[in-house]
Amino acid sequence: MNKLLGVLLLAFLTVSVVRAQAVPVSALAPAVQAAAVHAPPFDVEAATNAYMAELTPAQRTNSDAYFEGGYWLILWDLLITLGVAWLLLGTRLSARMRNLAERITRLRWLQTAIYAVQYIVLVTLLTLPWSLYEGYFREHQYGLSNMSLGAWLGEQGTGLIVELILATLALVIIYAVVRKATRTWWLWGAGVAIVFAIFVATIAPVYIAPLFNTYKSLPDSPLKAQILSMARANGIPASDVYWFDASRQSRRISANVSGMFGTTRISLNDNLLHRSTPEEIEAVLGHEMGHYVLNHVYKGIVFFGIIIVLGFAFVQWGFGWAERRWGARWDVRGVGDVAGLPLIMALFAIFMFVMTPVNNTITRSMEAEADAFGLNAARQPDGFAQAAVQLSEYRKMHPGAVEEFLFYDHPSGWQRIHRAMIWKAEHLDDADVRRGDAIAPPGAR
Ligand SMILES: [Zn+2]
Repeated sequence: MNKLLGVLLLAFLTVSVVRAQAVPVSALAPAVQAAAVHAPPFDVEAATNAYMAELTPAQRTNSDAYFEGGYWLILWDLLITLGVAWLLLGTRLSARMRNLAERITRLRWLQTAIYAVQYIVLVTLLTLPWSLYEGYFREHQYGLSNMSLGAWLGEQGTGLIVELILATLALVIIYAVVRKATRTWWLWGAGVAIVFAIFVATIAPVYIAPLFNTYKSLPDSPLKAQILSMARANGIPASDVYWFDASRQSRRISANVSGMFGTTRISLNDNLLHRSTPEEIEAVLGHEMGHYVLNHVYKGIVFFGIIIVLGFAFVQWGFGWAERRWGARWDVRGVGDVAGLPLIMALFAIFMFVMTPVNNTITRSMEAEADAFGLNAARQPDGFAQAAVQLSEYRKMHPGAVEEFLFYDHPSGWQRIHRAMIWKAEHLDDADVRRGDAIAPPGAR
């Protein structure tokens, strides 16, 4: 086990060094200088630094601490998942929950469902103190949450109901497959998990997201006309743009592309709408349109489908290993026995922990592609840089290269500003790109 972890970690670090060297920022300098032949010089580094200087040292310290603390949360999340699994298995509570389900019914699928409901409720209660710290108190400590404790608990309750319905359904199907194909279950089970993830992603914008926020059509305005024009120009069949009341939860500015097949939609949150200039909003939506045009939802399914297959293979190996050692003590009768679910969850958590840099790199690469697309589509380098400054509230601005590789699911703020300024330097001769604005006037935000 430790050897496997070591090999994987080594592989990640090797890749990270290669990647760190593979960003030839200096190679772009001659191009910037070439642009300077036609116009007075535009200093990319100085322009980047000017945006970075909009943040006070106190703001930087705060967001660095918030984001770096998040690195440790990844480890604590894993340890808590392992602790809960050990508790459920070691005390045979999990076996007793299965025995109860067997006493209630002889139908196996219903036994799985009864166990799943007990498991989900119990784990939610056991981890509630940690969830409270992570999701409520810590967010307030850094001034990022707008929620009262009552509202937060209410959302947790809604989330629990959604989880009870969807996760129970998924577990019933996966366990039916596991019992049918005792040797190749990991492949079939992964297939079911992928199809289920696609199903949830498809229904989420229509049936799940509205449980937490109100989505409305953006009222007609020059800004909306501009957004829809950009959509038409890029082949996006959007007839509407949605906005939602994220300010219920936090101050974070955000937008997203969600859904699949017929349910795909572009939504921006009210924080972005109220706290940002039209230039910033156009830049952010250019980025979101990039996700759409570059088919990131479908590519994501392929990438994460592979991760899920690998994860299930790891679980199959790990389950056999653990069952030989502790199966009798835990009263778990093989992988098809639902009492072994805590073990499956623990193994999957270990796998996903190790895969953190891989998952982040898959996502971050797509985000960088969307950034490049958005700059070309919206042609608002200063709007994009300004939005990157605002995102610093919850993301450390300027990490080291290895740090960015390991922990960032988006390019860092510094990286985004720098790329925007390089784009600007290359487009200074264009009539619609203004040379000024490198520093937004104070109070313009
Ligand atoms: Zn994005």
